[in-house]
Amino acid sequence: MNFNNFEYKRPVLETFEKSFMTLLGDFSSAGNAAEATEKFSQIGKLRSTFMTMYNIAHVRHTINTTDKFYEKEQAYFDVTLPSYQDLVTQFYKALLQTPYRAALEEKWGSQLFVIAELSLKVFTSKVLEDLKKENKLSSDYVKLKAAAEIEFKGKKYNLSAFLPVETDDDRTIRKEAAHAKWDFYAKESEKMELIFDELVKTRHEIAKTMGYKNFVELGYNRMIRSDYNAEKVAYYRAQILEHIVPVATDLYNRQSNRLGISDLKIYDENYSFASGNPKPKGDPQWIINHAKTMYESLSAETGTFFNFMLDNNLMDLVNKEGKATGGYCTYISGYKSPYIFSNFNGTSGDIDVLTHEAGHAFQVFSSKEIGLSEYNWPTYEAAEIHSMSMEFFTWPWMNLFFEEDVEKYKFSHLSGAIKFLPYGVAVDEFQHFVYENPDCGIEKRNLAWKEIEKKYLPHRDNAGIPFLEKGGLWQRQNHIFSSPFYYIDYTLAQVCAFQFWKKDKDDHKSAWADYLRLCKAGGSASFLSLVKIANLDSPFEPGTIEEVMKPIKSYLDGVDDSKF
Ligand code: ZN
Repeated sequence: MNFNNFEYKRPVLETFEKSFMTLLGDFSSAGNAAEATEKFSQIGKLRSTFMTMYNIAHVRHTINTTDKFYEKEQAYFDVTLPSYQDLVTQFYKALLQTPYRAALEEKWGSQLFVIAELSLKVFTSKVLEDLKKENKLSSDYVKLKAAAEIEFKGKKYNLSAFLPVETDDDRTIRKEAAHAKWDFYAKESEKMELIFDELVKTRHEIAKTMGYKNFVELGYNRMIRSDYNAEKVAYYRAQILEHIVPVATDLYNRQSNRLGISDLKIYDENYSFASGNPKPKGDPQWIINHAKTMYESLSAETGTFFNFMLDNNLMDLVNKEGKATGGYCTYISGYKSPYIFSNFNGTSGDIDVLTHEAGHAFQVFSSKEIGLSEYNWPTYEAAEIHSMSMEFFTWPWMNLFFEEDVEKYKFSHLSGAIKFLPYGVAVDEFQHFVYENPDCGIEKRNLAWKEIEKKYLPHRDNAGIPFLEKGGLWQRQNHIFSSPFYYIDYTLAQVCAFQFWKKDKDDHKSAWADYLRLCKAGGSASFLSLVKIANLDSPFEPGTIEEVMKPIKSYLDGVDDSKF
């Protein structure tokens, strides 16, 4: 059992499809519940072998993109996965028609059927061409951004390489960098706005064809949201506005004072400390050793988990040539193994990988005996609870990584989470406006962003940059183009993670027990059911946000950040 020895063999689609359809036929024509259950589990095993091979190929390809063999395998899956998805859809149809539903539901619970039902509500072959168009438009946007070239002081940068320049210690450089970046967006703005306009119209068309009033409900169904709707989300945003926006504004004021700037501009927002952001005080191997110590002392379960990851070579953390960018956590079901991929670069982000991504990995590891691929992961807003809460459960060990800067790290972590929430809900409110007014036109769309930005980010000073002043900032947010209505999920999970932050401080033992129960439940329940399983208060209920902000505010007020 070591990732290097995980056997890879390309699953030939035709062979897979043949076996799959035979089993599906047997399932549909089963004569009794026992037979249906047996065929159901065989279909599950067959799916798992296919996805196991996909995940092995994907991980190996991203670890070394110059490896010709896995490059070819990745390309094979890129064209094969839609057909695989189509087979899964047929399986869901059969599942909803089986006369033995009661027996299956008794064993697996109702969430599987909720997933099947919603998955069928978001697709019909009538919209196939429009869906292809939607995908193409999203990729056009991604390509446009990937091709970005910002020329600055004689050097050329892409958008991610430009990030460090944007937070330079010299304020004049920050200002010039902001102008250079937003000039790129201004130059491409017409194209981006047209792509988005087409996307909105296409999504509206798809919704109308499928019998929806507009794209909003379809967008929610795509996210498999079964226990809340747009109205509840609107109420939730209002709670953020009332109880979090003032705290965020106060944090920006404190930042101004720390930096000695009386007029904090947008290009100062990501520059938190004149002394620099806290960084881990050692090399990657040193970080991993400390992470091992940390997880072994946090709990028996995390100790077992982290040693499993280490012993079986299930993490590739350090940046090296040929590696794909970014970070992720995935699950190789055939080996019951999570996998963590990242690119350590010497910033506090390296520690975030070991707390955030390891939170995802710990959840999927804790629920590995759940036996149903639909339940490996929960829906996104629930999935981020595990990762964001693990960031807080590991707080007592952050001194290992940040040493004398530990208080600065904690202040920066918690205040960063608070500052994110108003932006997160602004992105969500904007999308509701967009899909409720699909024909409003480009100019009104920008104006809507401008209004929403003023409401949720009242501290913001766009520094007279024309593109931002016209309300263009939303055009930098990938999710708005590629994953409609996804963004709010991060904020919902954060409000839950804040509750774990408080519970852990008050009573570690019971907080950890709640967290463990949540992780073991995997994706076997809907968001609000999982919230209940974890003994948390729903972010949609009156009082939840107000209550959780009290201890957070008093913690932040107790920190003397002038010394940072
Ligand atoms: Zn995450």
